Amino acid sequence: MRTHGPMRQQDAGVLVRGAMAAHPLAHPAARALAGVVTGAVAAALALFAVIMLASCGPSDARQSPRGAQGDRGDQGPRVQRVVTTTAHLADLVRVITGRRYGVGFTVEALMGEGVDPHTFKLTQSDTAKLTRADLILVNGLHLEGKMDEVLEQLARAGRRVVRLGERLRPEQVFSPEGAGGEPDPHFWMDPTAWSTAALAVERELSTLDPDGSQDYRVNAKDFMGELLELDRYAAEVLSSIEESRRVLITSHDAFGYLGRRYGLRVLGVQGLSTDSEAGVRDIARLVETIVTARVPAVFVETSVSDKAVRALVEGARARGHTVEIGGALFSDALGAPGTWEGTYLGMMDYNLSTIARALGGTVPEGGYRRLWLERRKP
Ligand SMILES: [Zn+2]
Repeated sequence: MRTHGPMRQQDAGVLVRGAMAAHPLAHPAARALAGVVTGAVAAALALFAVIMLASCGPSDARQSPRGAQGDRGDQGPRVQRVVTTTAHLADLVRVITGRRYGVGFTVEALMGEGVDPHTFKLTQSDTAKLTRADLILVNGLHLEGKMDEVLEQLARAGRRVVRLGERLRPEQVFSPEGAGGEPDPHFWMDPTAWSTAALAVERELSTLDPDGSQDYRVNAKDFMGELLELDRYAAEVLSSIEESRRVLITSHDAFGYLGRRYGLRVLGVQGLSTDSEAGVRDIARLVETIVTARVPAVFVETSVSDKAVRALVEGARARGHTVEIGGALFSDALGAPGTWEGTYLGMMDYNLSTIARALGGTVPEGGYRRLWLERRKP
């Protein structure tokens, strides 16, 4: 673990101590169905009731070894399935499992490239994946607004549902002014908060697969070190933007944690969620801010319509101020699988470079990726 950088070291200490609490895994499936079934989730619940009766049994692999590709009998513990809502969380599982990926665990994200989690609704196939999961990792803090009820039912059915947002320290949770105390769910934008999520995921994996716990601890510790480096890099790159230009205007309020951590004023056309037109702020008021502060660029997002941001550009033009679209930021989704932007670190790197360049700051050649690759040289 590297020791410089502004991030707290507390997580690393906790990691090394590595106290693993046991958790209750095996609840009778029937208990889930005793709850009140309402409205739109009824069909999905009926479906997973059928699947659960078919799969019939506890989700603890050590008690009930069954092969992921079929019955493996006494050939040892089967590969356990992790299902995540966002691709960010699936990336975390891949990084922490490392060489035990496909041995201890596999992972699948329900939300792919360009998918908006605020409006995401489960398909029957998604629900089936969730019912078969040994571990369900969720961002929480109401990011997955349309899934809350089904996730609660799954938890009541004995599925291990972990909402990472609930594992943050209270001071890590950001509740912006005017949100009525509602927490901002976009905590991955702060690498120090993401580090806390990494530690929580490591603990979950180690509990479910004690054979791999040594690997998971080492990998999580390495990744948390990498997050320290990212935190230091982000502070450096964003501070290269002239102070009066440190204004980040986007489609919706996904960058509050970034703004709090690195001193950017962050304004979204929509509020914390994208699911309601009622959250749309006064375009004229934002245009006023852009014109007055001579903001050089605004940003669209890969998972949200660009309509409102384009209205800002037009509004500013009508007032005689040219504001560019500085790029498409990865707000709530990662880039394409298999690309650098399809990883958490790559997504952050891309966003930092795009923001800094468009607002007049400087970005080191090769960005964060070059430094990351250099640290990997033997
Ligand atoms: Zn969002």
